Amino acid sequence: MFKQESSSTKPEPVKEEAPMCEVHKEEKINIYCVTHGVPTCSMCKVFGAHKDCVVEPISSIFQTKKTELSDGIAMMVGTNDRMQGIISQLEEACRAIEENSCRQKTLLCEKFDHLYSILEDKKREMFQKVVVEQDEKVNYIRGLTRKYGDHLEESCKIVETGIQTMEEQEQAVFLQATKPLRQKIGEASSIAHLEKVERGYENMDHFSVDFRRERRALRSIDFIQDEDDEDEEGETESNDTEVTQSVQSLALSSSKSPTPPSSPLPNTNV
Ligand SMILES: [Zn+2]
Ligand SMILES: [Zn+2]
Repeated sequence: MFKQESSSTKPEPVKEEAPMCEVHKEEKINIYCVTHGVPTCSMCKVFGAHKDCVVEPISSIFQTKKTELSDGIAMMVGTNDRMQGIISQLEEACRAIEENSCRQKTLLCEKFDHLYSILEDKKREMFQKVVVEQDEKVNYIRGLTRKYGDHLEESCKIVETGIQTMEEQEQAVFLQATKPLRQKIGEASSIAHLEKVERGYENMDHFSVDFRRERRALRSIDFIQDEDDEDEEGETESNDTEVTQSVQSLALSSSKSPTPPSSPLPNTNV
């Protein structure tokens, strides 16, 4: 029976000599052991390793296996297409991440620049308030100094005139001079009409600032947090999961694709 098969398969491997059995060097491999899924020789079936195995003529298995392989190839081509699709999606995701990051960085810069400008404006404004009061107070003090200076000059002149008058030997002249002089002394000795600087006028403590609250606020600057903090991994993480999920779903759909009746894959062959 097997000899017949061997002769019938003979025209098949014309171009290439049919392989011989490794155990039985004279025997062509012309039957197929269904149990072990390997081609073998008739002697192996009769006496050898495949004595108790189910075998079939190699030609009948040939077409089945060829179809199986062809189906397998077609499935792999489909899978490869899907993988190419996944790779394209991943590349697209990469580009999207870069674009999104770029946009967020620009926005971040703008927002920070706005904060800086608010601070700069405030600083200038408050600085200006100090400068204005400083000028006002210094000008007032300078004016007062001038008034006191003028008064001092006047007093010095009176003192000088007084000393000269003291030296006057002529009594009548002395007495003539003394009356207006005493009046002048009376007027000039009073400085009540000159304003006085209030206590603590030089104090500028009212321009103190307490930025503790603002410092805390600045330190607490952060990205907007998700309202429900289920997982504390940031937004980027969730994007990653999205990508992974889409990849997984693609991979899943590829595994769900119609498979030939008996898959050529070794693990499903069992
Ligand atoms: Zn053999
Ligand atoms: Zn076998």
